[in-house]
Amino acid sequence: MSKKIAILGSTGSIGTNSLRVIEALGPKFEIVALTAHSNTEMLAGQVRQFKPKYVGLTNPQKADDLRDRLGDYDGEILVGPASLVEIAGLDETDTVITAVVGAAGLGAVLEAAKKGKTLAIANKEPLVIAGQLLTATAKANGAIILPIDSEHSAVFQALQAGRTDEVSKIILTASGGPFRNATAGQMENATVEEALAHPTWEMGRKVTVDSATMMNKALEVIEARWLFDVSTDKIDVLVHPESIVHSMVEFVDGSVVAMLGQPDMCVPIQYALTYPRRVKGIGERLKLGRLGKLTFEKPNRSIFRALDLGFAVAAKGNSAPVVFNAANEVAVQEFLAGRIRFGMIVRAIEHCVNKHEVRSSVSLEELLAVDTWARGEARRYLKREVEQIVR
Ligand code: MG
Repeated sequence: MSKKIAILGSTGSIGTNSLRVIEALGPKFEIVALTAHSNTEMLAGQVRQFKPKYVGLTNPQKADDLRDRLGDYDGEILVGPASLVEIAGLDETDTVITAVVGAAGLGAVLEAAKKGKTLAIANKEPLVIAGQLLTATAKANGAIILPIDSEHSAVFQALQAGRTDEVSKIILTASGGPFRNATAGQMENATVEEALAHPTWEMGRKVTVDSATMMNKALEVIEARWLFDVSTDKIDVLVHPESIVHSMVEFVDGSVVAMLGQPDMCVPIQYALTYPRRVKGIGERLKLGRLGKLTFEKPNRSIFRALDLGFAVAAKGNSAPVVFNAANEVAVQEFLAGRIRFGMIVRAIEHCVNKHEVRSSVSLEELLAVDTWARGEARRYLKREVEQIVR
């Protein structure tokens, strides 16, 4: 077992954990390329440690800074948004880990699929925005898509227990986030600090806010729909505050197969890298005896409106998930910048989804055009909302 790996987004939370896993897996797992957006200090440190042949930086304004930091580095430095696509398609790699936040990594993920790579996908956007296009491209070019998202890794592992046509339900678990027991009023005016206080998982800011709105789970429903090629009526969401059961699959005979573990991204990252094998890993061990009990409850769908919205969008498919994702990205940015109320996030998404006329075309260009429209519409909507409050 050996791998030649590119990591798109190596300075984020998934990227740094991937490097820890790869370092522990030993020299047969070779880092060929690393990319980051603008954290040149961390990227330079990673380059010195892992000595990749290629380094990509998507923010061109930081290019000189990176070159200064890298000094006598003798590999190739690629700069600008196109560097992601180039690195994703390098002949020297067989595995591409994609952990680029937002829609930015889409072209790169498709390029890797075209080149028949093994794609270890950590960010949701490729499957949410272009699930149909990506899975079709992967199939046509012999690329394998392996999920790093913990829930989907759990489902993928549970699916090894039976055949696809024997599945009756995919049950995605959700921690419920910091507002699991909050009222609608408390959620409406929740602060950035409150939204970022996730009870079980340590993640990036965007994903943590998504977890607080449960948009994260809604996006995961769409992701699962494409990744596992199941209709939305076979997908369910169950709140499980301890985040130990990472998801389950119910088979037609009534057996439910679950994957359990400590909330530690190193486990799904490593499984994607060593699949179909398993090796000793650095992931934390589960001690169920110490935990004592695990609890489950149905999500409160009247408070977490993102969920029903997500199921509806997943069923519509085509361009609908693009709008859902783009409006959320804009709204979360505005919320994190302190410009809008927490409650406005999901309202902005709902507004954009309702306004959008679903298009059945799935070319990348058209998906990106819808993405641009949705971002503009979300900004216009939020601006109006904020002005109304000021008045
Ligand atoms: Mg997840």
